[in-house]
Amino acid sequence: MTAITLVQGDITRQRADAIVNAANSSLLGGGGVDGAIHRRGGPEILAECRRLRASRYGRGLPTGQAVATTAGALDARWVIHTVGPVWSATEDRSALLASCYRESLRVAGELGARTVAFPAISAGIYGWPMDDAARIALETVRAIPTAVEEVRFVLFDARAHQAFTRALG
Ligand code: ADP
Repeated sequence: MTAITLVQGDITRQRADAIVNAANSSLLGGGGVDGAIHRRGGPEILAECRRLRASRYGRGLPTGQAVATTAGALDARWVIHTVGPVWSATEDRSALLASCYRESLRVAGELGARTVAFPAISAGIYGWPMDDAARIALETVRAIPTAVEEVRFVLFDARAHQAFTRALG
């Protein structure tokens, strides 16, 4: 039985086996939570991302997929990078958002992570409405059989925390 917990705060201050990054497909860093993870985690994470770009992901990490690196100076063993879909008003991309959570948990399970911290993927720069992002995140995590013992959603502000609290029911 996987415990789902919600906290408000900065994901880069969390202790967890794995911290999930809402990356972009370049894997070379960006704004939002991605920038914060690289700033606090230090250059080792970016160095490993560059190696992944040069080897497995020459065209970038596809949307909905996930890949792990070192967590550098973060209080974690791994950062799991996943690329959320950009919100679209005309196209339903929710399967891709669900895939981010599913694939990140699959990678976490393969690594043997017992605690995994997630941000609200796609709900920042990528524009996903927070209530819908929260619903998809929680429905997906609840439906996945995993050896991960705790999935912790780390919500950056009160609005995000409230949306996840409502969606958790
Ligand atoms: P995306 O490009 O997938 O939308 P963002 O990083 O822009 O990713 O935003 C995803 C969510 O992460 C947003 O709700 C944003 O407020 C939040 N966020 C930004 N910085 C942090 C942080 N340090 N810790 C946790 N969540 C964060």
